[in-house]
Amino acid sequence: MPINKSEKPESCDNVKVVVRCRPLNDREKSMCYKQAVSVDEMRGTITVHKTDSSNEPPKTFTFDTVFGPESKQLDVYNLTARPIIDSVLEGYNGTIFAYGQTGTGKTFTMEGVRAVPELRGIIPNSFAHIFGHIAKAEGDTRFLVRVSYLEIYNEEVRDLLGKDQTQRLEVKERPDVGVYIKDLSAYVVNNADDMDRIMTLGHKNRSVGATNMNEHSSRSHAIFTITIECSEKGVDGNMHVRMGKLHLVDLAGSERQAKTGATGQRLKEATKINLSLSTLGNVISALVDGKSTHVPYRNSKLTRLLQDSLGGNSKTMMCANIGPADYNYDETISTLRYANRAKNIKNKARINEDPKDALLRQFQKEIEELKKKLEEGEEISGSDISGSEEDDDEEGEVGEDGEKRKKRRDQAGKKKVSPDKMVEMQAKIDEERKALETKLDMEEEERNKARAELEKREKDLLKAQQEHQSLLEKLSALEKKVIVGGVDLLAKAEEQEKLLEESNMELEERRKRAEQLRRELEEKEQERLDIEEKYTSLQEEAQGKTKKLKKVWTMLMAAKSEMADLQQEHQREIEGLLENIRQLSRELRLQMLIIDNFIPQDYQEMIENYVHWNEDIGEWQLEIT
Ligand code: ADP
Ligand code: MG
Repeated sequence: MPINKSEKPESCDNVKVVVRCRPLNDREKSMCYKQAVSVDEMRGTITVHKTDSSNEPPKTFTFDTVFGPESKQLDVYNLTARPIIDSVLEGYNGTIFAYGQTGTGKTFTMEGVRAVPELRGIIPNSFAHIFGHIAKAEGDTRFLVRVSYLEIYNEEVRDLLGKDQTQRLEVKERPDVGVYIKDLSAYVVNNADDMDRIMTLGHKNRSVGATNMNEHSSRSHAIFTITIECSEKGVDGNMHVRMGKLHLVDLAGSERQAKTGATGQRLKEATKINLSLSTLGNVISALVDGKSTHVPYRNSKLTRLLQDSLGGNSKTMMCANIGPADYNYDETISTLRYANRAKNIKNKARINEDPKDALLRQFQKEIEELKKKLEEGEEISGSDISGSEEDDDEEGEVGEDGEKRKKRRDQAGKKKVSPDKMVEMQAKIDEERKALETKLDMEEEERNKARAELEKREKDLLKAQQEHQSLLEKLSALEKKVIVGGVDLLAKAEEQEKLLEESNMELEERRKRAEQLRRELEEKEQERLDIEEKYTSLQEEAQGKTKKLKKVWTMLMAAKSEMADLQQEHQREIEGLLENIRQLSRELRLQMLIIDNFIPQDYQEMIENYVHWNEDIGEWQLEIT
């Protein structure tokens, strides 16, 4: 890990927006849907045309990178995710969003088909990349990698790796560590295979309680978070921990919810989902507007949790997924507009050095302490190897004073005993016992006393041995969590990492060639423009100007149509919101009716007096005194 990377504030290239268009699927082909999207990977443009007879001009959008229907998972990873994961390994925060209509490939992009190496998505590939990096790191670096996996559904946060799937978690905030989720479980992972088990567990839990899995996943947001801590000696000779947090977000489907008289539970879901995604949109708008002083992060769980990812301390990539078919025209345009706006977000990313919530340093300290303790050995009362010197004159010692005195004496008789010594002690006890039993000239009472004393020593010894064992186990468990740089942990993931690397190199070659071609193309275009500019006569100039005028005219028309589209979209949004308000008021009236008929007036007043709004969990709470 290069330690000398400068931390200059860079804000322009911290947010990248790419677009990926999936191929027509079998159903679309069999129904003869037409392709409405064309992708120019070289120029980074997406053009969408109406396939009906209307004369609307095609709309073209430009992005950092665009992927056509033939794009490969490995290329998507190498071109978009790789730089972000590299930054996270240096201690930056990173976020990758998949945005788009249901069925356009968000989950395919984020997760892919795990069983087929070439079809694996960003999450599994990032694991292979991370552990590949650790395997190549210097031997004196230490790593701690942990993951958590959560879902936001109906504005409720559920821990997908938690034991109790009925539990809903609270979003909290602390000045030193920022926004976090209380009691969210985090699993320490040691290799890329652990990740597989965790994803499987998360998936299983995603479907718990869902009556319709498709609907559930299209309405919920899934956030997979990988936290990587790395400790290394800095230039000051001290150990420093850097912590990078990577959020991999599979957002709910961006399509407008059909408003077909939803009531009760369904209505609740529809309004809440709208809230989360539309707040994300509002946050993006406020960030790029330049005039807004207030960014409404707090209005939804999603935006609160991902506050850093948008306009904050993070390197962020948004992948907008679209479908190619003409029947998706409106949704595709809407997704592209959304993505277009997101391009203008500016983030300020910095390396997180020695953060308050780092665990690695704490673990390493615990390991050191445990090792020291184990070396010193265990405390055993009256542990003098030469035999017992403990007096058993304990009669009459009651009450506080007696207790205190006893404690003090016990303390004085305690000694640290190393594991070797413990073995010796056991041998000595065995020997003494043997001698005792063979001794003939002894009163029975005395013998019993000696037996009891031996037993006590043996018990103390056993206790110490058990304590020692439990410390050893604790140490081993802790040591397993911390990964030493340079140790090969790839196991099965090795192949994947090789695949990624190879494809990355190939990509580099292709990129160079494409760059060359693009430059040539640009030069030709420039030449053509230069030629056009060289007017030799007035007539030519007039012709040229007419041409330019025509061009400007087309641009004006395109802008006008764009404006009309936007207005239409706003209108649709407003109508959607109004419709929500109407349905909510209807629901409210029903609830009022129920309340007025079944809850007496004084009870209602009492409830009103004792209730308050909890901003953290977004619910009314009764204060019971
Ligand atoms: P979403 O998560 O956005 O709802 P999915 O990722 O589930 O969409 O994709 C819907 C279907 O399309 C899946 O069967 C998926 O395998 C397929 N698909 C999506 N993107 C691609 C792609 N780029 N190439 C091939 N198949 C794809
Ligand atoms: Mg999906």
